[in-house]
Amino acid sequence: MTTQICLKCQEDSFSWSIDDEDKLLTQWGCNKCYYQAFENESDQRICSNCKKETESKLKDDTKNYWWCSNCGTKKITKVQ
Ligand SMILES: [Zn+2]
Ligand SMILES: [Zn+2]
Repeated sequence: MTTQICLKCQEDSFSWSIDDEDKLLTQWGCNKCYYQAFENESDQRICSNCKKETESKLKDDTKNYWWCSNCGTKKITKVQ
């Protein structure tokens, strides 16, 4: 499985798994700092930075944000 740069600790150890109960929900987790976030597969858009359709909506304990898995750009949309 390929890993991404973790949004929290910046280590290359961020990976995903599909939730068996809800196929539209992808769970992201870092195996270094244990940061977790959920991705809604139905929310994807073109990244304004790299112009690829790899930006998806993620949600963690404190905020919602757009994250591009290609270039790593993060745009916070809502702080809870
Ligand atoms: Zn991490
Ligand atoms: Zn991008």
